[in-house]
Amino acid sequence: MLNIVIFGPPGSGKGTQSARIAKKYDLMHLSTGDMLREEMEKETSLGQKVSEFIDQGLLVPDEIVLKMLYGYMAEHMDSPGFIFDGFPRTIVQAEALDQLLDKHGIPINVVLSVEVEEKELFKRIMGRAEDSGRSDDSVEIAKQRLEVYKRQSLPLIDFYRKQGKIVAINGMEPVDEVFDNISQAIEAVKPV
Ligand code: AMP
Repeated sequence: MLNIVIFGPPGSGKGTQSARIAKKYDLMHLSTGDMLREEMEKETSLGQKVSEFIDQGLLVPDEIVLKMLYGYMAEHMDSPGFIFDGFPRTIVQAEALDQLLDKHGIPINVVLSVEVEEKELFKRIMGRAEDSGRSDDSVEIAKQRLEVYKRQSLPLIDFYRKQGKIVAINGMEPVDEVFDNISQAIEAVKPV
């Protein structure tokens, strides 16, 4: 199995790159943001519960995200691997993922940390707002999401650095170049 975590601030291009990685390496794309938005669109009780967090740019509580993610993973354990996109976002989530993967005897092979300057992130989120229809793509909420990222998610870099799994990716480059660099990082850890 090949398991990849793609990590980065909102607007860093994780979603776009994850879709390409999933296609190239035949991995199951697990985006907790997409899963949560789907629940909101379907107006399920879970969707209603999480919308207040998402619309404010806050993280959805760990227990909710973990339960939802475990459900998706359990259905796809026969997949050649996973690309985790937008997950984990807290140390609690990262520890829970390690424990779960340990139980199945499968590792995270690499954590791709996509780095983009803050000014560029805002530009991208605002550009995306025009056609994404996302309720959380506005200036105020973007600022909040970035603050939440720094406070709750950034510590994960240290967490995975200690495990020797972090590879920094320059996300300021054009999409195709970013993808080439990501592919190289994956080839370096891919089991033969
Ligand atoms: P994303 O599409 O990854 O930018 O996620 C959009 C929003 O969904 C985030 O701002 C959070 O409110 C929520 N969300 C997505 N993934 C997680 C996660 N792993 N933990 C907590 N909240 C999440």
